[in-house]
Amino acid sequence: MRTGQLIVISGPSGAGKGTVCKQLLREIENLKISVSATTRDPREGEVNGINYHFTEKEVFLKGIEEDKFLEHAKVYDNYYGTPKKYVMKEIENGNNVLLEIDIQGALQVKEKYPEGVFIFILPPSMQELKNRIVGRGTETAEAIEKRFKSAYEEIKYVEKYDYCVVNDKVELAVERIKAIITAETCKVKHDIEEIISKFREESIC
Ligand code: 5GP
Repeated sequence: MRTGQLIVISGPSGAGKGTVCKQLLREIENLKISVSATTRDPREGEVNGINYHFTEKEVFLKGIEEDKFLEHAKVYDNYYGTPKKYVMKEIENGNNVLLEIDIQGALQVKEKYPEGVFIFILPPSMQELKNRIVGRGTETAEAIEKRFKSAYEEIKYVEKYDYCVVNDKVELAVERIKAIITAETCKVKHDIEEIISKFREESIC
């Protein structure tokens, strides 16, 4: 069976990754999201097992020791990690898996799984980025400043990614990512043997 694709999405806080990913999940059949483990506290409205697997620090660190994460990173003083077993199982079952993770994590995945598709989401401008972070109203002034400063650093990493998508309008960003996924799925490298055998002369007789 043809394996699924691993699609990795990163971008600075406020670029709109979360909204874009939610819409992708609604629109693309056989696309699964990997629910990360994190040691951060749930925000209002977040549900354990849906937004994140909210995990005690000791349990998370044990998970690292036991090699349970495809990647893991410390982001803004909290740990985040992608569950390896879930992701690999879904890919083997032919499903596409979406990871919405930070740059440190994406670079680790690229090392381990270079056949993944790496997409960087950019805001239309830095001013718009700031407006979005402030507008969310979920962070303290200090956290907003920290996230905004890191955004400048993070954007430098765009060159490590395969694609860069500007999120000026969610529906446009989603269309662009869908086009990327379609193009990647049609790449000859994926199932060249299967294609060749299907179109061998003798298979018509
Ligand atoms: P938040 O706390 O706002 O949900 O996420 C903070 C940052 O952590 C975001 O950039 C998000 O993409 C990233 N993140 C979420 N899950 C993971 C993960 O499993 N691994 C890594 N490396 N980063 C993650």
